[in-house]
Amino acid sequence: MRRTIRDVSLPALRRAIADYMRSEGCDCCSDRNAHAGHKRVLAELLDVPPYKDGSGCDFGLFETPRPAPKPRTGVLR
Ligand SMILES: [Zn+2]
Repeated sequence: MRRTIRDVSLPALRRAIADYMRSEGCDCCSDRNAHAGHKRVLAELLDVPPYKDGSGCDFGLFETPRPAPKPRTGVLR
């Protein structure tokens, strides 16, 4: 994976996250188009690479590992 050293200012990062959270909204107030743009800004600031097919940015590379789901046992309810 590429590794670049560069400074990102706290105000720029804070604003990008605030914009991202604002456009995330909920069912009544999400702004999907703005959200996609805000996500790209965050990816740029944080050096998150795009998916190979260009469909977005692979934040998943950096997310906290999740525990494997427990196998389902017993009867279905
Ligand atoms: Zn809402």
